Amino acid sequence: QTTLKAKPKDIYPDWKAGQPVPYAALCATFSKIEMTTKRLEITAHCSLFLRQVLRLTPQDLLPTILLMINKLAADYSGIELGIGESLIMKAISESTGRSLSHIKSDQNEIGDLGLVAAKSRSKQPTMFKPKELTVQGVHKGLMAIAIVEGQGAQGRKVDGIKKLLSAADAHTAGKAVDITKDKGGPSEAKYIVRTLEGKLRLGLAEKTVLVAISQAMIFHEMDQKDKTPSTTDLSGAESTLKSVYSELPSYEVIVPKMLEHGILNLPENCRLQPGVPLKPMLAKPTKSITEVLDRFEGKDFTCEYKYDGERAQIHFVAHDAGEDLATAAPSAGRSERGVSNIFSRNSEDLSKKYPDILAKLPTWVKTGTKSFVLDCETVAWDMVEKKVLPFQQLMTRKRKDVKVEDVKVKVCVFAFDILYLNGEALVNKSFRERREALHDAFTPTEGEFAFAKFGNTNELEEIQTLLEDSVKSSCEGLMVKMLDGPESSYEPSKRSQNWLKVKKDYLAGVGDSLDLVVLGAYYGKGKRTSWYGAFLLACYNPNTQNYETVCNIGTGFSEAILETLHQQLSSIVIDRSKPFYKHSAGNKDQPDVWFEPRYVWEVKTADLTLSPRYKAAAEEVAGSGKGVSLRFPRFIKDRDDKKPDQASTSRMIAEMYQRQESVAKNKGPSADDDF
Ligand code: ATP
Repeated sequence: QTTLKAKPKDIYPDWKAGQPVPYAALCATFSKIEMTTKRLEITAHCSLFLRQVLRLTPQDLLPTILLMINKLAADYSGIELGIGESLIMKAISESTGRSLSHIKSDQNEIGDLGLVAAKSRSKQPTMFKPKELTVQGVHKGLMAIAIVEGQGAQGRKVDGIKKLLSAADAHTAGKAVDITKDKGGPSEAKYIVRTLEGKLRLGLAEKTVLVAISQAMIFHEMDQKDKTPSTTDLSGAESTLKSVYSELPSYEVIVPKMLEHGILNLPENCRLQPGVPLKPMLAKPTKSITEVLDRFEGKDFTCEYKYDGERAQIHFVAHDAGEDLATAAPSAGRSERGVSNIFSRNSEDLSKKYPDILAKLPTWVKTGTKSFVLDCETVAWDMVEKKVLPFQQLMTRKRKDVKVEDVKVKVCVFAFDILYLNGEALVNKSFRERREALHDAFTPTEGEFAFAKFGNTNELEEIQTLLEDSVKSSCEGLMVKMLDGPESSYEPSKRSQNWLKVKKDYLAGVGDSLDLVVLGAYYGKGKRTSWYGAFLLACYNPNTQNYETVCNIGTGFSEAILETLHQQLSSIVIDRSKPFYKHSAGNKDQPDVWFEPRYVWEVKTADLTLSPRYKAAAEEVAGSGKGVSLRFPRFIKDRDDKKPDQASTSRMIAEMYQRQESVAKNKGPSADDDF
């Protein structure tokens, strides 16, 4: 804050109070962020910009934040960017009058479509100076592109992109932009295209924007009283916003309340509310029951079955609850009792996948239960044998537009936590209290709704028996959870050390399977020549926003799977690797085809090793240019509930590697913290 002081005119000269935020002003800030890798500077650039927005154009704060985090709306809205390269190239070509082959050859040479757009736009002779783009206008334009569907959707998307590009860079129209300098400078065309691709590539993580918002807001509030915030004020604002956002991850709801009541008054005005999905709490892997006992020594804990299905967060508000379901998705279940929604691990709306659950839900709810948010696992259920079926059965269910009468694979909901009940958030209560509230509020029904099975014990042998029983019941193992005190509260979005998972296959091996992104493929040999036979996989580094290669994989695929994968992947082939793919430059390490980063696969490995052919966690672990790599990787399943940026992180892989090394040296597990 002390090193980076700026006045509005330093950020952008023509930005006047009350006028919409010029998009060029935001791009000027993006460009400054792109020029540094220092986290504090990045945060300061962001917060200075947001401070000016608050001072000059507070009504634009929401779209500004959304463009900064490269989203058009909260995740549960289902509105996403990530437009394919070919559509964008077409739009660049048509809006700038350059031939598609020129655009393609530029892309081959430059490897960043944003820069290709900036170059194409700057070469274009313009007769009229277009009207300047505004942040609101760009957000609206992008939204229109994202939501268009049905016949002719592709063409209308291209038209939408052309419209934005033709208005881009009004202030520099006709002037050449040197894309070799300053990473292309603050070109609007560059950032529009990168936003469309779903990757701003500024090294600007969402949590940095959250910190910047808190700083900007507290500075702004103090500015008005002619005061400067102290470090305590700043950290107070930051922790307040972080905790409010973790319960209610929706800027659409938070921003207006923050402007109305001030940042420090947010907790009274913005709490968890049915209709807005929370990011779920996650667990840390452990390698053995003795490790669990070491970690939870002296504490009371509980061991629950780890069901192998799909995570589901179920929200419900009865008509007579006197509450609103904040933003019931259009496909919400409506019954005589109330309105319900069901969300995935990723906050996607699952109502269309599980209409059978929503239809039955009111019958499990006791009369006094008026509103709730439940954390559950949906599991395929064998109606005849009356038992849990393996995960693969669940995967055969359709994902969308399911009709209750057509459902073949029945599911049973196993509830393991309750986060909100009858108008009150329960996340800060102990797990023992939450579990009691859960059991009091519902009536289990065989094969439809059950509470997760558990045993409260810290005896090694009893835990061993629970683990074996869970595996016999087609579960993956156990989830071990702290029962009492503040440590047992529900920590949204955290991979917490107060939840440990013990999977049956941990007991040998590295501790957990990995979820990796498919970046490339090699054509098959012999019988497999018409499909891809092996694939190049990568983990994700959220700090650099790069994908770092971690292994080639050719094991674990049936022929039927290979055929399906070939169909899926052929449509996302790109001409060359992306600049945010970190891979070996060696000739023999290049895959035959590269893909857009879209699919995440779960993969198991025998162990981890260092290799110069891969780049995963190279900075964290080796420092010698060698990355961590998987030995004998094996395909388990497609994780279509995970997005590429939710893949296993470089840090997670580094930790696994270090843990493996320290176990090998008999030193016990490495220090633990969040991935
Ligand atoms: P995994 O591949 O192990 O599911 P993950 O990253 O999706 O990994 P983890 O935090 O590792 O999630 O494991 C917790 C997951 O286990 C939850 O997301 C949930 O879907 C599932 N689960 C099944 N039973 C339980 C339970 N009793 N308590 C909590 N989570 C459970």
